Amino acid sequence: MTAPKPQPGILDIAPYKGGEAAVPGVTKVHKLSSNETPMGPSPKGMEAFRQLAGELHRYPDGSVDVLRNALAKHYGIPAENIVCSNGSDEMISLICASYVGVGDEVVYSQYGFMMYPIATQARGATPVMAKEKNFTSDVDALLAAVTPKTRVVFLTNPNNPTGTYISGSELKRLRDGLPAGVLLVIDAAYAEYVSRNDYSNGMEMVAGRDDTLVLRTFSKIFGLAALRLGWAYAPANIVAVLNRVRGPFNVNAAAQAAGAAALDDTAWLQKSRDHNDAELARVGAALKGLGIEVVPSVANFLLMRFPGGAEQVKGADAALRQAGLILRGMGGYGLTDCLRLSIGTVEEDDKVIATLTKFIKG
Ligand code: PMP
Repeated sequence: MTAPKPQPGILDIAPYKGGEAAVPGVTKVHKLSSNETPMGPSPKGMEAFRQLAGELHRYPDGSVDVLRNALAKHYGIPAENIVCSNGSDEMISLICASYVGVGDEVVYSQYGFMMYPIATQARGATPVMAKEKNFTSDVDALLAAVTPKTRVVFLTNPNNPTGTYISGSELKRLRDGLPAGVLLVIDAAYAEYVSRNDYSNGMEMVAGRDDTLVLRTFSKIFGLAALRLGWAYAPANIVAVLNRVRGPFNVNAAAQAAGAAALDDTAWLQKSRDHNDAELARVGAALKGLGIEVVPSVANFLLMRFPGGAEQVKGADAALRQAGLILRGMGGYGLTDCLRLSIGTVEEDDKVIATLTKFIKG
């Protein structure tokens, strides 16, 4: 028998591993591995989700009108420049399906999000990694990685898994330095958490161009990861392409309803931001006090580098898991001396600090 043959590149993919939520023998698990919010879903989003139950026999609105109009109003951008997707993961795949093929190259930052190389390889194209400096995306390295075969450059800002960011002027320098015809995707999944004056989510760079797209998600501060909702703000030419490639009902009805409601849950969003600011500073300081290197983060997670290297990470991870605390290992990035911690509730963060204190100090 001859088995069906997958397309070129597909078997080269290292499958994406999410943070697993089970530890044998441990009943109470705290999942601090996927940068979800510890605040739960937006209450307004949850209410809209509940109200949808009676409509489950209907297809969702294929043009996502209510949500796109809500986004347009919220961000002051035209609704016709918005395309929604089944999580921003799907949009990354749609972008590659639309603009990348066999023999092409896609540039991304060294510790950039794993979906970029995965979606690239799924098209039979080559992911090209640009080295980072001090765990931060390096515009010069990104520009140097571009060749005539480059179709897309992905930049996460702030970066995941490092939590660092590049300034608005650096972002502009990147765009200005890219050749015409190269699509720049600015993935601003964690933008809502950043409070630095020189940060830009890149949205002001889209209007007037035909080659720049900003990617956003409802999975992080909005607390709707389970519903799978992402979106792109893009020029008309790119919207026209993405709308041809996406499935007709790619965004489910619950996501559309909950997303539109969560968007204006202003008080709850502010509470989430305040919690993150306070915990990021508190947890970061406590970990540093234990001799762990903590990469300065503006997002809702911290990359920790253990002075004792991979061996110490193994021990720390085992101790954390025994306490029911699931963090993200960084071996997939070659950072075997690191663990990434998503900010949790005060109680969860306390538990992380106490467990690591016991592990390191005995
Ligand atoms: N981009 C970045 C940078 C991320 O960290 C994530 C989630 N880990 C995503 C995109 C995907 O998010 P979602 O598919 O849930 O919208």
